[in-house]
Amino acid sequence: MDKIVSLCRRRGFVFPSSEIYGGLGSSYDYGHYGVLLKDNVKQRWLAAMVQERDDILALDSSIILHPQVWEASGHVGGFSDPLVDCRFCKRRYRADHLDDLQCGQRPSKKPGETSDCDLTDARQFNLMFQTRVGAVEETGVPVFLRPETAQGIFINFKNVAQIARRTPPFGIAQIGKSFRNEITPGNFIFRTLEFEQMEMEFFVPPAEADEWYRYWVDERLAWHRRFGLRDSHLRVRPHDADELSHYSRGTSDVEYLFPIGWSELEGIANRGDYDLTQHTNASGTKLEWVGQDGERYTPHVIEPALGVNRSMLAFLVDAYDEEVVAERERTVLRLHPQLAPVKAAVLPLIGKSEDMVTKARSLFDELRRTMSVEYDDGGAIGRRYRRQDEIGTPWGLTIDEQTLADDTVTIRDRDSLAQERLPIGGVRARISELLSTDWRTPKDD
Ligand code: ATP
Repeated sequence: MDKIVSLCRRRGFVFPSSEIYGGLGSSYDYGHYGVLLKDNVKQRWLAAMVQERDDILALDSSIILHPQVWEASGHVGGFSDPLVDCRFCKRRYRADHLDDLQCGQRPSKKPGETSDCDLTDARQFNLMFQTRVGAVEETGVPVFLRPETAQGIFINFKNVAQIARRTPPFGIAQIGKSFRNEITPGNFIFRTLEFEQMEMEFFVPPAEADEWYRYWVDERLAWHRRFGLRDSHLRVRPHDADELSHYSRGTSDVEYLFPIGWSELEGIANRGDYDLTQHTNASGTKLEWVGQDGERYTPHVIEPALGVNRSMLAFLVDAYDEEVVAERERTVLRLHPQLAPVKAAVLPLIGKSEDMVTKARSLFDELRRTMSVEYDDGGAIGRRYRRQDEIGTPWGLTIDEQTLADDTVTIRDRDSLAQERLPIGGVRARISELLSTDWRTPKDD
């Protein structure tokens, strides 16, 4: 993890937040390449969910919802973690994570291990951030920052189903920020106070719920594989009965082998009719499906829920590689080309050659109209390649003497290092073609 953190910082993917004030725990800011990578992860998810299917619609609901939403959903009463305090060192720990935590005392490794440790019983601590809506602090209405995007979908079920005239099975997908007052130290961007979620609620006839649940577990696993995660680092773990949330009739985690060990990447839950029934009862608005012939039922819901930032971390961890090429070390991010922040770098071999620079800039201007590309004429060509390898740029385009003679350029592949010559006029089409080709990571499984 240290290597990923250091690369992210060095190349401006991710910075600790509020750094000039000493930082704020479990909060991060995303720099240029981080924004581009994160955006690509979201785009690929939305494309797979909405663009490539005809049964899922997009939604963007508010972060601050009516406070009753969270009463009805069960979050006010039950969205909490069990915490213990240590009377000796005054620290607070997740009671269900004690085995994985360090208490800071020596020689203790876990809270509770030394004779000084003096842990309280576990108490429930609500994870929602509260704030107030209204001009006057004292009289403002208390509201919450949403801890998940899902509830915004459930409360819009009737709007979407009626306007789009959909019959279950159909889904509603949403990407947006969520907030949780997490107290467990973060492990970089794995667990943060604010994060983005990509959630999809799939509404199905009750009798089909089990089948669709299995379908979505397979489908989501395939998505992570499609964008490069290695099979050996992915697994599906069904929850034991005693682990299930109160609303869940079945949950499976897609787990990834992060440097901190196997951990949840995405959760897929069969939520039954819990949410629609709760909101129907609390709001008085019937959230049900009514057919032409008067048939009516409350659909059951299958929910795949993935964190954007956690997904980005998994892609970074999986892509990270170090190797020696021509006796020089290089760090390379073997990211799926569709995820890579920059698709190609245009590099005039001799930065001082006006002719090469002119050609290179004109190719750069052509490419940047449709994709994210960089132009770099500073320093030795090997160093420029390495700078691009480190941010995962799949292709390097070099303008050299021969370009001036016959208008061809070399295209260098980040992973195989193979170089191919092609006419400058065909570069854009070639890169578009490569970008749409299926891709598997060259890293050993
Ligand atoms: P965990 O057990 O890791 O706390 P969870 O089971 O509470 O996660 P869900 O409520 O199922 O998580 O949220 C769906 C997804 O949102 C998770 O699989 C994860 O990818 C992401 N996620 C949840 N909490 C956080 C967080 N604090 N920071 C970053 N991503 C998060």
